[in-house]
Amino acid sequence: MDLLTANDRPGEYPGSYYAAMANPLPPFPVAEGNLRCDVCVVGAGYTGLSTALHLAERGYDVILLDAQRVGFGASGRNGGQVWPGLRMDRYDLERLLGLDDARKLWDISLQSVDIVRDFTRRPEMADCTYHPGLIHADHRARFVPESSAYVDMLRDDYGYPHMRALDREEIRHLVGSSAYHGGFLDTNAGHLDPLRFALGLARIAQAAGVRIFERSKVTAVDKGDPPNVRTDAATIVAGHVVLACNGYLGGLDSQVAARVMPINNYIVATEPLTPDAQAEIIRGDYAVGDSKFVVNYYRFSEDRRLLFGGSESYGYRFPADIRKLVSKPMLEIFPQLAGVKLDYAWGGTLAITMNRMPHFERLAGNILSFSGYSGHGLAMATLAGQIAAETIAGQAERFDMMARVPTPRFPGGPRLRSPLLVLAMLWYSLRDRL
Ligand SMILES: Cc1cc2nc3c(=O)[nH]c(=O)nc-3n(C[C@H](O)[C@H](O)[C@H](O)COP(=O)(O)OP(=O)(O)OC[C@H]3O[C@@H](n4cnc5c(N)ncnc54)[C@H](O)[C@@H]3O)c2cc1C
Repeated sequence: MDLLTANDRPGEYPGSYYAAMANPLPPFPVAEGNLRCDVCVVGAGYTGLSTALHLAERGYDVILLDAQRVGFGASGRNGGQVWPGLRMDRYDLERLLGLDDARKLWDISLQSVDIVRDFTRRPEMADCTYHPGLIHADHRARFVPESSAYVDMLRDDYGYPHMRALDREEIRHLVGSSAYHGGFLDTNAGHLDPLRFALGLARIAQAAGVRIFERSKVTAVDKGDPPNVRTDAATIVAGHVVLACNGYLGGLDSQVAARVMPINNYIVATEPLTPDAQAEIIRGDYAVGDSKFVVNYYRFSEDRRLLFGGSESYGYRFPADIRKLVSKPMLEIFPQLAGVKLDYAWGGTLAITMNRMPHFERLAGNILSFSGYSGHGLAMATLAGQIAAETIAGQAERFDMMARVPTPRFPGGPRLRSPLLVLAMLWYSLRDRL
């Protein structure tokens, strides 16, 4: 069983709202024969596209391979929320790395939001608007003082002026649900259409001269010198290789797979709502993510559909009825949506690490891997590509900083770790209810 094909048809985008609305690129060819390049990038999500285009803009000859299509993976199906910061909070980061490195990581995470926003201003992204404003919503009253202290800490210690704490009255004005007690609004963070963003990156990469191949699944990467990359129909000899497969990596590299674990997450899109019904759910053009361990996240599309994400699973196969699965948390938060039609429902696979920090690794002198963004990959994976390119060009400062962050191996080895993960996740999701 393979996550690349378990839930999707070969060479096709999933039945998501994004795919239905996108203006897809004509298919790229299948890689064939003996090929050579400076850098071969495996995986055409944000990580791979951004790596390839940054290298090509520096003058490298780049081949980019995807087993399916450009943006087929998590990059074309996600919640579209662009968060600064990493999944591990500031306090834990300071404890783990010390204040100095924690500050450097915070700067890196801000750069990740900047790079996304900057890309959306390029002409190739004319159809991909960056909407500023993300709300973090606390589902427990006891979290509200922590959120407020967090806003103060980021302003006072990190000089971040874009966040404002929300009390119970304010959050209920902004989000039409009795589920929340407070939180914060970040006006630097934002949201966008994730597949349009991926396709825009592909247009930029193509214009920069990247040779893109689709339906070209890599079956092996030989870590020789030079390394070579094999698909069923091609062998590519490259000066450098970058692995950018994230949740879809499968068994391609056991070193990375030991530290990075796939999990599935799900989204539904309602039918278009009236402007009044929209304002009853979210007042203002904000996206919302809540404080649950299995996060509920939502925002409106430009045609006024609520795109609501939530629920996870840990095996290969997606559940048969994604609408039913995601309706449950959606109606708990917005009972007023009972009876509203769900026009689209889809799932995707992302990758998490034990401590929710991204996993950047040098697998051999000239083979790099970037993955494990743990649900914060829209911005960080895009930045990872820029970091990959500068590392290959000989400036490894940001790579070294990120690679120093320890990402422990999952216990239990590949066979046992899934049942262990299920148990751990069930425990945490149970805590969401306490
Ligand atoms: C439902 C869902 C909601 C999410 N919501 C958010 C959100 O709101 N905000 C946020 O920041 N993050 C979110 N994420 C996470 C985010 O989407 C990912 O972290 C990010 O897209 C990772 O990008 P990537 O390029 O590393 O991986 P992917 O986009 O998954 O790309 C990997 C690519 O590698 C290809 N590939 C894999 N194996 C091979 C092989 N052997 N040969 C060739 N190609 C191969 C795949 O076909 C795929 O196209 C979400 C993820 C999901 C699934």
